Amino acid sequence: MNLKLSNLCALPLIFSAMICEQTIQAQTMIDESTLSAMPAYEGTDLGVTVGRSGTVFKLWSPMADSVRVNIYDSANSPHPASVIAMTESGDGTWTARLDRQAYGKFYTFNVSHGGRWLDETPGVWAKAVGVNGRRAAIIDFAGTDPEGWKEDRGPELKNITDAVIYEMHHRDFSVHPSSGIVNKGKFIALTEKDVVSGLGDKTGIDHLKELGVTHVHILPSYDFNSVDESNLPSNQYNWGYDPYNYNAPEGSYSTNPADPSTRIREMKQMIKSLHDAGIGVVMDVVYNHTANNDDSNFSLTAPRYYYRHRPDGSYSDASGCGNETASDRRQMQNYIVNSVKYWAMEYHIDGFRFDLMAIHDTETMNRVARELKEINPSIFVYGEGWTAGDSPLPVGRRALKENVNKMNGIAVFSDDLRDAVKGHYSDAADRGFATGKPGNEETVKIGIVAATAHPQVDYTKGNNSKFAYAGSPLQIINYVSCHDDLTLTDKLRKSMPGSTDDQRKRAARLAQTIVFTSQGTPFMFAGEEIFRDKKGVHNSYKSPDSINAIDWRLKHDNADQFNYYRELIKLRRRHPAFRMTTAEDIARNIVFDKVDGDNLISYSIKNNANGDRWKEIKIVFNGSGETRTVKIPKGDWTVIAADGEISADGLATTRGGVTNIAPTSAYILARTK
Ligand code: CA
Repeated sequence: MNLKLSNLCALPLIFSAMICEQTIQAQTMIDESTLSAMPAYEGTDLGVTVGRSGTVFKLWSPMADSVRVNIYDSANSPHPASVIAMTESGDGTWTARLDRQAYGKFYTFNVSHGGRWLDETPGVWAKAVGVNGRRAAIIDFAGTDPEGWKEDRGPELKNITDAVIYEMHHRDFSVHPSSGIVNKGKFIALTEKDVVSGLGDKTGIDHLKELGVTHVHILPSYDFNSVDESNLPSNQYNWGYDPYNYNAPEGSYSTNPADPSTRIREMKQMIKSLHDAGIGVVMDVVYNHTANNDDSNFSLTAPRYYYRHRPDGSYSDASGCGNETASDRRQMQNYIVNSVKYWAMEYHIDGFRFDLMAIHDTETMNRVARELKEINPSIFVYGEGWTAGDSPLPVGRRALKENVNKMNGIAVFSDDLRDAVKGHYSDAADRGFATGKPGNEETVKIGIVAATAHPQVDYTKGNNSKFAYAGSPLQIINYVSCHDDLTLTDKLRKSMPGSTDDQRKRAARLAQTIVFTSQGTPFMFAGEEIFRDKKGVHNSYKSPDSINAIDWRLKHDNADQFNYYRELIKLRRRHPAFRMTTAEDIARNIVFDKVDGDNLISYSIKNNANGDRWKEIKIVFNGSGETRTVKIPKGDWTVIAADGEISADGLATTRGGVTNIAPTSAYILARTK
């Protein structure tokens, strides 16, 4: 999320205020320091564990008076078949045992707190759930593994900068009739091969392979709150930034939410299918807030502990969604760390994108990266280095982009490049470097050098950040659009009102060429490569399919655009010069040229950078609507991109000299000697 309200905030203000008041009255008895001093549990067996000798339930709730577990025969049975009182273990946990393997049963916990029984909850460690996640399920996980799962591996990745990330929503990607996909809006949509649009173009996973991305980043795929899984024909849509059960997949993306194993098996099938295609899977995780406050699974197991509060006892709200979690407390930190590790081990997830990461503290993020790398060195982590409101967590501890140097193995999104290239995200009409607005050149250069210190980049002229906040290009994700805000197509339509779509497509090519040739890691929003739009809707988190679905007929209409993106990605993946790994290499190998005129940047990547076979790459961006002239040194150059066209193998050759650069285009040359 990007500094905007999510679905929770749709509550009428008066109603919200009423809830807050009750909350304060009920919960002011425990102060923040008491909460922080609670004993944390360092084990990984919370929830339910089924072994040879039986079934063990374990819940962490150090302030509870008593705890019981309710065992149900089914997800819908009105009364529990048995209720077992749990025993306190002295380390903040409560335990109950059954002397049999209770596969097929469902369970909830009840916690008594301050002399009052709280509502039933599946707990915070439910790994399998029934419809809408209201009850946890006891299943045999071995039965959820698709064939060949033991041998399943994601792509090996030396550095995050070798990744090309494609951000997609399951429903956007497959639900349109033109997708040709049978299991529309489902995890297993990505297991269908040889699917084509009505016009014969590849869709689904074959489209991803054709495009050449290395990783798909899937929007929230854990169990979220908003879509009613018991009424799927109503075709509700949501991005899913309203977490309910963090450790089980979302039911509406499965073919049968009523069967707890199905969503797990089908998500694994999706991941295996992508891995078999050589594509990694990054999961979008939203530990920074929950869909509910007092009724969240966190609150119903350990009231107040998992959240931060204001001095008056009310929930603080750095998420803009009504609450914020407290990663600075040990048990919440353990929770985040163990949860991502669980997804990495059980589901073979290859990377994690942290929503509103700056709500978390830098220590937690360091632990996340370190412990994930121990499982699989190819795993990478990035996040939004900002919050959506103020937080009690001191600024110096927040996982902000400006604090990225306090973190190891964590990357942040560069809003610098994003806003400078296409215009500010919050002002639809605002233009950027690629659409002819002068004054953003220096900020684009900050993006090109991945926000690292460079002798020719003047950070005092940066629009968003005024200092070189990254110590390494491994810390930066470059992008010009994502699920938040207007799609690039819509942004260009709103900011270039007098232009044609052909002119806007040129601007999109230039914008993405800047992203994909910059140092750091490139990131794109699904469908951009075929000029998809969202009909001008900027916050489409619950808009219908008619807004969000990708119409795959666009691939036919915009075949030229798709081919440009494909070649651009090929160029990047083929040439390590675009993927340097240290700030020192960037400072040494990137040399900016003096140029005349606005909206013009010219630079070279020299010295066979990062082991590239190309001795020098010359890159010129002309974001103006006029032809600009640059002087290219004499040499045997291959023309890679010119006048809105690109080929990784080369379009032509040139000897250099005074050269015209077409309006709104990138000009790229390469020489081997
Ligand atoms: Ca759900």
